[in-house]
Amino acid sequence: MEDEGKKNWGLGRVKQWLYAKGLEERSSGCVLCGSCYGHGPANPMEDVPGPKTKCPPYEFYRFQRFTPKSRWLMAQRVFHGLDSITPELKEVIYTCTNCLMCQELCGVRDDGYGPWDITVAMREEMTEKDGPLEAHRPLFEGIHQHDNPWSQPKSARGRWADGLSLRKLGHSSASTLLFAGCSADRPTGRAGATALAKLMQTAGEDFVVLGDAEKCCALYAYDLGFRREYERLKDENLAMIKNAGIHKVVVACGSCRRIWRQYAEELGPDIEVVHGAEYAAGLAETGRLKFRQTVRKKVTYHDSCHLGRGCGIYEAPRTILRTIPGVDVVEMARNRRWAWCCGGGGGVPEAYPELAQWNAEDRMREAKETGAEVVLTSSALCQRSFASCSADALPTQDLLEFVVQAL
Ligand code: SF4
Ligand code: SF4
Repeated sequence: MEDEGKKNWGLGRVKQWLYAKGLEERSSGCVLCGSCYGHGPANPMEDVPGPKTKCPPYEFYRFQRFTPKSRWLMAQRVFHGLDSITPELKEVIYTCTNCLMCQELCGVRDDGYGPWDITVAMREEMTEKDGPLEAHRPLFEGIHQHDNPWSQPKSARGRWADGLSLRKLGHSSASTLLFAGCSADRPTGRAGATALAKLMQTAGEDFVVLGDAEKCCALYAYDLGFRREYERLKDENLAMIKNAGIHKVVVACGSCRRIWRQYAEELGPDIEVVHGAEYAAGLAETGRLKFRQTVRKKVTYHDSCHLGRGCGIYEAPRTILRTIPGVDVVEMARNRRWAWCCGGGGGVPEAYPELAQWNAEDRMREAKETGAEVVLTSSALCQRSFASCSADALPTQDLLEFVVQAL
């Protein structure tokens, strides 16, 4: 289906990558350096060597076709009509966990456009031509019919806030919005949303929630290539913000933060978007938040790909943890920019569960090596991944839930 609005989707975006404007000396895009998956130095343009392991599907399958570089080459061939979209090509494109490591590593572009974009662009093309993968159809239908990927009826949204005495937009107004995220009404996301509400109440923040009117931030729609659904949800979310006079959005989930970052760029300087970890770190800095409880725990923090590489937020979670008396923060070998993915993104758990499971277990193994008693995360998708780990896994807790116990 071709239309004017699609010119920058699918193969339209592949073209953007192939023929970069303003980069005459590198106009062919990928230079096949292998930095995005190889085991040598990460990137010749980097001062630091970077991680040994880079692309999760490549590390799992160990075939070149599962590298970001190969995804680019395949997209190029489809763009030029040399290959068609086959089930095999779909497998290669949809095994990307959307960890953004290749985006972080690839230094060939200086306009913010990287190899991960080409994967998403190919997903858009595939969805537009053939619809979603069968394994992703429930996610697609959930978004299309219920405005959330988990097919929760709209009437069941917002139940996470039951009993918390929060004010709902429509009945009340405020310039600050707590955006809970679709996982807030599921076991893996509820704790983060309720903890954020408690933090905001403790700080005396004047804020509202959306309750059953909250729609998905659109992360799944964007990352799985459901571009029409993404555009719809984006328009509806942006209209809600403008009509309600919201100037600050505080999100409970690191994955929502990545999409809200994109929205903030469109909304301009009048809107501020922060994750609960940034919010809490800001409160602690200004003295509005005091931790009275000592929490004698050794913890390790897992950087979610979307809050970390997706938004560049690495220090706020660590800052807030160090403010809590008694907490000992120990780092995993791969942390911050080089943090290893949990395998929970990109629709991989739904379509390639063995890859997602391996990824989560590998990250959990690394967490255990630190000697920590608990793994803290800042995204509901990471919580879900770690919840699937084997019985001897460390307990996992949402960062904000952990923080709130020290108030
Ligand atoms: S995508 Fe980037 S990092 Fe990967 S091979 Fe191409 S130029 Fe190198
Ligand atoms: S985003 Fe991550 S999983 Fe996807 S191609 Fe890049 S490095 Fe591989």
